[in-house]
Amino acid sequence: MDRVFLKVGRERSVERRHPWIFSGAVERVEGAPDVGGTVAVCDSKGCLLGYGSLSPASQIRVRMLSFGEDATVPDSECVKRLVAESIARRVGQGGVSPLCEPWRGVRLVHGESDGLPGVVADSYGGWCVVQLASAGAERWKAEIASALMDAGAKGVYNRSDVDSRRREGLPDAADGTVGVLAGGEPPELIEIREGEIRCLVDVRRGHKTGFYLDQREARAQVGAFAAGREVLNCFSYTGGFGLACAAGGAKCVENLDLSKPALELAERNFGLLDGGRRQVSFTCADVFKQLRLYRDQGRQFDMIVLDPPKFADTKAQLMRAARGYKDINLLAMKLLRKGGVLATFSCSGAMSPEFFETVCREAAWDAHRDFQIVAHTQQAADHPVALSFPEGAYLKGLILRSR
Ligand code: SAH
Repeated sequence: MDRVFLKVGRERSVERRHPWIFSGAVERVEGAPDVGGTVAVCDSKGCLLGYGSLSPASQIRVRMLSFGEDATVPDSECVKRLVAESIARRVGQGGVSPLCEPWRGVRLVHGESDGLPGVVADSYGGWCVVQLASAGAERWKAEIASALMDAGAKGVYNRSDVDSRRREGLPDAADGTVGVLAGGEPPELIEIREGEIRCLVDVRRGHKTGFYLDQREARAQVGAFAAGREVLNCFSYTGGFGLACAAGGAKCVENLDLSKPALELAERNFGLLDGGRRQVSFTCADVFKQLRLYRDQGRQFDMIVLDPPKFADTKAQLMRAARGYKDINLLAMKLLRKGGVLATFSCSGAMSPEFFETVCREAAWDAHRDFQIVAHTQQAADHPVALSFPEGAYLKGLILRSR
């Protein structure tokens, strides 16, 4: 077994079961491990700390798969067992497998926090979609697909067309990163349900694995405030929050997004909701520009949702990102009627919930508006955060009511 030796004093975070070993902590690599190959990780004196997968091109040089001086060597069986255990944690009431519920959209494996670094697996009514974002995850591709099939998947589709693979020295969006890995071809569109809402998911062309499952609980929280309101749903994607607001009794919903295909699907999703009884509109525009236009026109709303894409990947981009968040929040606050509700989110992992709240507070000062925090939201329970891995908490939100 090839070995990675850490510098003196750099073993602490591994001992605390943090799964990442940064390149700066590595003293030397003994042997010639392959990309994604398994290595034994040792402290500076050679004592075993556990086993992980090597990413020679990445700042995150090793991702741990097992910990401790008596750790098991991760082999095919071990990886399959980790996937099976992760799925077992999502088994619903009555012992029903999440893969056997026809309308359920659920994250089955959530990377580091489920003990499988770089591995994401979602299921849409039993059709699984995986994203493999690290060299180790890519290495165990066949085992991951086979464990999903053993658990009852109808098929496993690969959507590893993610930018982060470039940092791992892995091919991005090249042959083999997208397509069927096991079982059958998924349908063109797969319907999932969240409470009253029904959503068509396009696993081939959609964002991420096709749907933003991480906002499931926040959508329900936001929908509960929508009765009778005129809603502006910014960064709507395929309808998500707008559908939840409509189901919650909103008077009308305007969906705003830059992506035409996303809005086309949003329109179909609203059609499934209640045969188009309420007033719904779909605007293809840049939110930054559209909010300014509405400000200049003196438009007002009772409720605004801001669920933008990630503005910061790293701490270095944080200040620029903060300006972006402040800009849209300030504009949205000005467009709200008194008593109006702003549901605002950030999925930038580099931005802490405290900092996000500070940015919103500053936006409110500049907008000369008073708000109450009526709820904090976070990523849904099937996107857990390992206590030893605070980086896993990336999504936060505030539901604010204007006074
Ligand atoms: N709220 C959605 C998910 C939003 S994802 C849900 O619950 O499903 C972010 C969306 O923002 C994407 O659909 C993307 O197309 C859109 N987007 C990104 N930049 C934008 C911009 N400047 N203006 C409008 N939409 C944008």
